[in-house]
Amino acid sequence: MGKEEMWGCIYTRCTFVYLFDLYVCDYPMKFVHLHTHSHYSLLDGLAKIDDLIDRAKELGMEALALTDHGNLYGAVEFYVKAKKAGIKPLLGLEAYVAKGSRLDRQLVKDESTGTGKKAKENYNHLTLICENETGWKNLLKLSSSSHLEGFYYKPRIDREILNQWHEGLIALSGCLGGEIAQFCVQGRMEEAEATAREYLSIFGKDNFFIEIWHLPHIPDAAIAVKGLKEIAKKLNIPMVATKDIHYARPEDAQYQDILLAVQTGNTVNDANRMSMMDENYAMNSAEEMASWFPDVPEVIENTNKIAERCNVTLELDEFEAIHLVDYIAMDVKAPLEKYSMVANVPVDCKKIEESINIIKNSGIRHEFRTTVLKSMLTDRDLAKIKNISSGAKLKLQKCNEEFLIPVV
Ligand SMILES: [Zn+2]
Ligand SMILES: [Zn+2]
Repeated sequence: MGKEEMWGCIYTRCTFVYLFDLYVCDYPMKFVHLHTHSHYSLLDGLAKIDDLIDRAKELGMEALALTDHGNLYGAVEFYVKAKKAGIKPLLGLEAYVAKGSRLDRQLVKDESTGTGKKAKENYNHLTLICENETGWKNLLKLSSSSHLEGFYYKPRIDREILNQWHEGLIALSGCLGGEIAQFCVQGRMEEAEATAREYLSIFGKDNFFIEIWHLPHIPDAAIAVKGLKEIAKKLNIPMVATKDIHYARPEDAQYQDILLAVQTGNTVNDANRMSMMDENYAMNSAEEMASWFPDVPEVIENTNKIAERCNVTLELDEFEAIHLVDYIAMDVKAPLEKYSMVANVPVDCKKIEESINIIKNSGIRHEFRTTVLKSMLTDRDLAKIKNISSGAKLKLQKCNEEFLIPVV
């Protein structure tokens, strides 16, 4: 076979394989929703965790992120149920980031009008997703701090603690309420770029993404997306497409609207109230998502890459940890000291006691308490607990039975 003939043969074969792939093999389009609200986004999200998982299954999704507004209340429920359903759970949060310090509690000037003062102007949205266990622990710290130190209208974090606890987290620039998006809408492109640089330096170039959306009925969204694309190109920041899901199916929109009216203290008959009925915030299929971003196909593919990178394992059924937590949560001080003696583990009783009281009184789920408490112990503590003798374990178990409190 001559050289030309050989190349001709290779060319024909490659063309055949390409066309076969294109027309015969029906590859399902892949996309992962990285920005999802459940009913734990209080009076804002409608969908129960089960609804979201059912819908994701129906659409053939392999992974799904949960990013509730300012809290992690649904994280463990979502983790357990998604795993059971064969969907990879990505744990996250749509954080409120204070404009200045999370400790400041003052209304700031309304930038959109230049006059008056609005609570809304005190914070911006930022989507955070855990890449690994360190990220999960950091997200717990950020969430706790936002409620205990940063609460002003909303639980707010700030740049100071993001700098401290960013490791293991992937950040997306947020919805239209994101800081960069808002600067773009206001035509303040220099500030938008400076903010993007700032987030790049906090999270690192591999862990910060620009979020873009398809919101054809919201004029500000078109301005924001145009600006966001410019910044992404200029600073070489990868982009992702998100949907900002607030309910599972399109027909649920009217019920979410009622919920929002309750949150804002209005009735559905008030024409001037805040409403999200202009746009659809349901979970869409991968094909629909891809059809809205034909000029930037990478925004679809990048969601898959992020989902592949995120691997968090919550050891919810680990014997020692659960018993330890039940034991600690019983009625704190005396049993703690006893435990400390039995297992020979130094425990900061006062710190844990305070935290336990908050967790106990909140009435939240048993598994969540376990995770939070486990994250308060150092790796050294955990290693010691794992290595305690079987005799000590038995004693511990006995203490546990003695003081056992009913599981919430
Ligand atoms: Zn948002
Ligand atoms: Zn959102």
